[in-house]
Amino acid sequence: MQKRRIAILGSTGSIGRQALDVIRQHMDLFEVELLTANNSSELLISQAKEFNPNSVVICNEEKYKEVADALQPHYIKVFAGMQSVCDLVGSESIDIVLTSMVGFSGLSSTIAAVKAGKTIALANKETLVAAGEIVMKLASEHRARILPVDSEHSAIFQCLMGSAGADIEKIHLTASGGPFRTWNKEDIAKATRAQALNHPNWSMGSKITIDSATMMNKGLEIIEAKWLFGTEGDKINVVVHPESIIHSMVEYADGSVIAQMGHPDMREAIQFAFSFPERLTLDNRKLDFAQLGSLSFFAPDFEKFPALGLAYEALRIGGNMTCIMNAANEAAVAAYLQDRIGFYQITDVVRECMQGADFVAEPDLDAIFATNEETLIKAREIISRI
Ligand code: MG
Repeated sequence: MQKRRIAILGSTGSIGRQALDVIRQHMDLFEVELLTANNSSELLISQAKEFNPNSVVICNEEKYKEVADALQPHYIKVFAGMQSVCDLVGSESIDIVLTSMVGFSGLSSTIAAVKAGKTIALANKETLVAAGEIVMKLASEHRARILPVDSEHSAIFQCLMGSAGADIEKIHLTASGGPFRTWNKEDIAKATRAQALNHPNWSMGSKITIDSATMMNKGLEIIEAKWLFGTEGDKINVVVHPESIIHSMVEYADGSVIAQMGHPDMREAIQFAFSFPERLTLDNRKLDFAQLGSLSFFAPDFEKFPALGLAYEALRIGGNMTCIMNAANEAAVAAYLQDRIGFYQITDVVRECMQGADFVAEPDLDAIFATNEETLIKAREIISRI
């Protein structure tokens, strides 16, 4: 394998840090070209000193001087602001762009990377939820390959390998069920933020961990799967699998089901996106089936987790509705993390925004940005009334 040069957008977040761990294990095969972070200047500086990228971007302009002063002796170029990320991702010297920033804010830089024809290791699922049709169309126009990093979608992608052209009968998207899987609705309604942030299997950032507790994360992933694999919502089945050993499955017309398995460890999916189609060694925990003994599966509870139903509905309606759902959810999760609303009010805010939405059937990119802005304003109004 020829050495691959990687840009990590969001390098100080959970996925970004795990990506650097993958690179650390294969310094002969991967090279860091660009690191970007929103706010965490100290960690960004130490990552840059260790991996010696060509450039770094700190999005928060107030922290530019701190980062520039620290890295100047190392001959690493330092830039500030979101626009710099968009300007740099298209650089000649970059082969793969890992999009591991959080939420809708990742859309413009992802589009810039797609337009430059880069291979995208996609971890920012909100990009496809908000603008899946536009992003996939641009990717095919600019021959940008999109490789999934979300563990479920990496699994599906791997289950599809060697079956080119075969019809997918069903995608079985596995869900851990989150921390409230076995709780009753009354207790979930009163859950504290700390309880919602305590995910049983995966260690992730706070936004996605709350999304896992509401199961909106699975809702976002249904929409992500539709765009990545061209599968309609009625062929995407969610199955709760608390052990998170099977990362997802594909069922074919003959009833044969292919599953991809492993202990929950995001580095597996990140590394496969970096090394595809090759497989490399990884210092992780291997499966011992005799020790596992059994695996369990349950149907999801749409009553306890209304976000799932909202996501199927948004996908069925199409247009800008999935963008509306995503924006409302981002605003509501932020408010929940600040203790401003209760747990079930997250999905109440999403539902209310979806019901009162200005629907656009065929949004272009400008309409998507406008929808996101308008929905954030609307969601914040609803939140302040609560
Ligand atoms: Mg996932």
